[in-house]
Amino acid sequence: MSKATQPLVLIVEDEPDQLEVLSYNISSEGFRLVTAKDGDEALLIVEEQRPDVIILDWMLPNVSGIEVCRQLKSRSTTRSTPILMLTARGDETDRVRGLETGADDYVVKPYSVNELVARVRGLLRRSRPASVDQTLSYGELHMDLVQHKVVLAGTRVKLGPTEFRLLTTFLENPGRVWEREQLLDRVWGHDADVDLRTVDVHVGRLRKALQVPEQRSSLIRTVRGVGYSLDSEG
Ligand code: CA
Repeated sequence: MSKATQPLVLIVEDEPDQLEVLSYNISSEGFRLVTAKDGDEALLIVEEQRPDVIILDWMLPNVSGIEVCRQLKSRSTTRSTPILMLTARGDETDRVRGLETGADDYVVKPYSVNELVARVRGLLRRSRPASVDQTLSYGELHMDLVQHKVVLAGTRVKLGPTEFRLLTTFLENPGRVWEREQLLDRVWGHDADVDLRTVDVHVGRLRKALQVPEQRSSLIRTVRGVGYSLDSEG
């Protein structure tokens, strides 16, 4: 899998020792990593870099973890980003409060690193299935991410590496409408020197490759004025 398609994990933790241990273990899993030391920095990074999962410490200076969580879950652009809360509090009411603000999961400090990584993978399975699963399917379209094989209605489809990554992105969220900028970030990487025309060209190639001859339509649909989507509606 190319660098750009590896899931991006944001760790928000103010204690340097904790941050170091977490960073080491998340990087070891092959995930891309970005870190923040307080809530304001975290909110800024989420807007700019759109991480795939957020590990969020409850106790932070200034803006608390709970408040960061509440804000992210109230914005349409970040609502679906999974949040794993780290809490030193084992108290049941605090756990409930954490989940009520919208956290998707939590671990209580001191946690085992293995458990934490397993929880992160669990959240990624929902938001970025290709990062933890080996195959993706949608209707008659099947994708084997390990063997790099795509089959549509029983017929092998040959794709270039960029089209393959594009299809992985589409197949992770069938029906989701992607803006071209979002596709660019996800498939080429946030810092890539690529323009939106290039995105159109590769989506065009993918659309052609996914044409079912007898149906005269492709699984890739253009949503006018917005971007592209993979679904069978078109
Ligand atoms: Ca803390």
